[in-house]
Formats: sequence, C-alpha cells, structure tokens
Amino acid sequence: MKYFVDENGFYGKFGGSFIPEMLNHNINELINTYNQKCKKNHDFQKLYRKILKNYVGRPTPLFFCKKYSEIYNAKIFLKREDLNHTGSHKINNAIGQSLIAKQLGKKHIIAETGAGQHGVAVATICALMDFKCIIFMGELDILRQQTNVVRMKMLGAKVVSVSSGNKTLKDAVNESIRYWINHHESYYLIGSTVGPHPYPQIVCDFQSIISEEIQLQIEEKGYLNPDYIISCVGGGSNAAGSFYHFLNNKSVKLIAVEAAGLGIKTKKNAASICCGSKGILHGSMTMLLQDKDGQVLPAYSISPGLDYPGIGPMHANLFEKKRATFINSTDEEALISAYELMKLEGIIPALESAHALSALKKISFKKNDIVVITLSGRGDKDIHTYEKFFKKFQVL
Ligand SMILES: *Cc1c(COP(=O)(O)O)cnc(C)c1O
Repeated sequence: MKYFVDENGFYGKFGGSFIPEMLNHNINELINTYNQKCKKNHDFQKLYRKILKNYVGRPTPLFFCKKYSEIYNAKIFLKREDLNHTGSHKINNAIGQSLIAKQLGKKHIIAETGAGQHGVAVATICALMDFKCIIFMGELDILRQQTNVVRMKMLGAKVVSVSSGNKTLKDAVNESIRYWINHHESYYLIGSTVGPHPYPQIVCDFQSIISEEIQLQIEEKGYLNPDYIISCVGGGSNAAGSFYHFLNNKSVKLIAVEAAGLGIKTKKNAASICCGSKGILHGSMTMLLQDKDGQVLPAYSISPGLDYPGIGPMHANLFEKKRATFINSTDEEALISAYELMKLEGIIPALESAHALSALKKISFKKNDIVVITLSGRGDKDIHTYEKFFKKFQVL
C-alpha cells in the first residue's frame, strides 16, 4: 500500500487537499461521484475503454528498437503514446475525466494548459462530447505555442489569456482555480497527477492503461516483466501511468527523468525533486522549486510540457521511499537524444519524451535487460525548436 494513495488522499507524507473552504463542495462532489459511479462501475469503465479503442487508437504499440538495442546493449522498447489521437498521452486522462463530468451533469469544462497539449486534448474531447470549453493559458505561453492556440480555437474552445505572475502555467492554474470557485456549474479538468486529492489519483487511474498494456505486451513477446521502465516527469502523469502496475514488483526498476534545463547548478531548470524542497503547491503537499521564504520559483525547460515548478505527490513519495530513481537531463542532452531517435528509428519525439530517451546514456544495462521507455508524445509541436538548434549544431 505504501506507494498508493490512502483514504485521506495522501501518498506517505505527500498529497492531501489544501484548498480554500469554498472548493470543499466541488471536491467532495467529485470524490463521491468518482468512487461511487466511475472507478469500479462496469458501464463507466466499458465506455472509457471503448472510446480509447475507437477514437484514440489504443492499444498503442510497444515497439522494439533494433538499432537502439545494439548501441545500448539491452533490449529496448518504446511505448508509443505519441501515436495517440492528438499526439500524446494527455488524451487518456481528458477522456476519462470528461466522462466524470457527464456523470456529474456538468455542461461546461475548464482547464489550464502550458504547452497547449492538455488544452488541445480537452478541446478535442469537448467537441466530441458537446461540452462548452474554456482553456486558461499564460500570456507568454500563448505567444510561444501559437499552433496549439489555433488548434484549440478551431475545436471550439475559448482560450483565456492569463497575465498575472510569470504569465505561464502556474498562473494559469491559479486562474482556473479562481474561476472554479465562482462557477460551481463547471468541471475543472486537471491535466497531470497534481492538484488536491482526488485529482492525482484520478489522473493516475486513467493513465494506468499505459502500464496495463506494457505488462500484456511484454508477456506477449515472451518475457515475464521489464527490467526498467523509463519516463519523463513534468507533473508526472505519463510516468505514473507507466509505473502503476509495476509499483509492487520490485524486480522492475522505475526511472523518472526530470528536466534539468540549462543545468541543475543554474537556476534555470525544472527539476523539482533534485533541486526542490517540501511545500504546498496547488492544493497538494509535494516537492517544489521555492526560495528560502517559500516563494515558488519559475521553472525552466526547453520542453514546454516539463516546465512546471512542482511534481505530483505520488512521485515525491516514490522518491522518498526510494522506489523510483530520479535522474535529470539538460536541454542539450534531450536535443541530442531526440536527433538520435530521428536518425536511428525514424521517429520524431516530443521534446519532453526526448528527456526520457537521454536516460539511455546515463544507465549501464546488462546485456539482456528489457528496457521500456515511454514515448509520451510526438514532436510536431517542437519542429521550430528542433530546426533552430539543429541548425546551430550544424546538422541541418
Ligand atoms: C504534458 C506532457 C508531458 C509532461 O506531463 P506529465 O504529466 O509529467 O506526463 C510529457 N510529455 C508530453 C508529450 C506532454 O504533452
């Protein structure tokens, strides 16, 4: 049990629900509906699986990388979340939570987004299922992620620009919470394993389809279980989903890769475990980047999906209990690993996922180790960043 959430919403010392009293109603309504009508309800789960299959394209392949395996001297597989509809794992959770919103009788969904991947997933599912959709996004992120803003608008979402604070993801979350307090008729669809209980648990449950499939696919290939599972971590949802069914199986080593930005010795990184300390962020006790007065520090990473100053409470606990190993990769290491995957396997990864790939250069494997890396998303959104840096590296 020690890696899973307890009845009060804690993962060891982390998690819980530190929220203004005005949100108690929304949160209690969510806990009750999720527990009573969704989590173990056969019809709910059946509908969720059906949409994943027919709309998202699950199960995603577990792809054996021949050349990678030769170079890194292990059997290396990629879990292809990049092949999901809308291009990342975010849609798994967006679908699950939109079905909860339906159960709650809500007509209206709000969400925050940083890079825009979660915003696009939510706007997509709102179009499919007839919800009114408002996406809060920092003013700076709107400028940096124009294509995703256009995608959200085409899908019918209203994109609200947030100009408080650093004008990025953390501020968009604050604005969403503020809006939610004043609009009980809306459902707040959180995009990662963060926020007050029960969100980290709900998001993890919906993403756990990833490890469920990995286990089956590894068995189909004739192995007992993987020796390693490697994922990048921002808020922690693709890692939580990839680890979930292996948490109690100690023969599977779990590796989480944080974004080290320009380096962990600089202030420009997003490595909340490596460089952070314990504190409360967005309703949850966790590890976060803060100064000595408890002011949240801005996070930085070249990958927009990883530059969040906190991490989900489940991961803070996996770190403290030493169940998962946390390593980190710089912008440059991620770019080099992305380029390598393009050349060797013909896959353009999201910059976030490239952080997970760079773990291959940091771990020494035994010859027959089975290594599964979650490729959380595809790189279409990052083409301009890749172009800029690959020109600089003179490989284009
Ligand atoms: C959002 C995102 C991430 C980071 O979020 P997690 O909740 O940590 O998974 C990683 N990869 C991609 C492609 C993303 O869009």
